[in-house]
Amino acid sequence: MSALTMNPYCERCGHWTSKREFILPGGVLQNAETHLAQGDLTALLALRPGTCPTSLRNLVLNISLCPKCDQTAFLSVQVRTVEVD
Ligand SMILES: [Zn+2]
Repeated sequence: MSALTMNPYCERCGHWTSKREFILPGGVLQNAETHLAQGDLTALLALRPGTCPTSLRNLVLNISLCPKCDQTAFLSVQVRTVEVD
């Protein structure tokens, strides 16, 4: 997988989406999965994701949002484990 990935394109208004990264602590993983399964992005963001890791196992949400219409959103999720010495 390349580190350089193109942002998705909003076909509705011909605009490139902008990517934002949110980090959820692993403790809310189960809640997050429920919201993800329902495609409920609003509820997901209500879990107050931050921008820096707060636990050893974090859920990283990459959300690409169209800055124009906010109707087009692409979401990818990964679990990121923080290595400590
Ligand atoms: Zn758009």
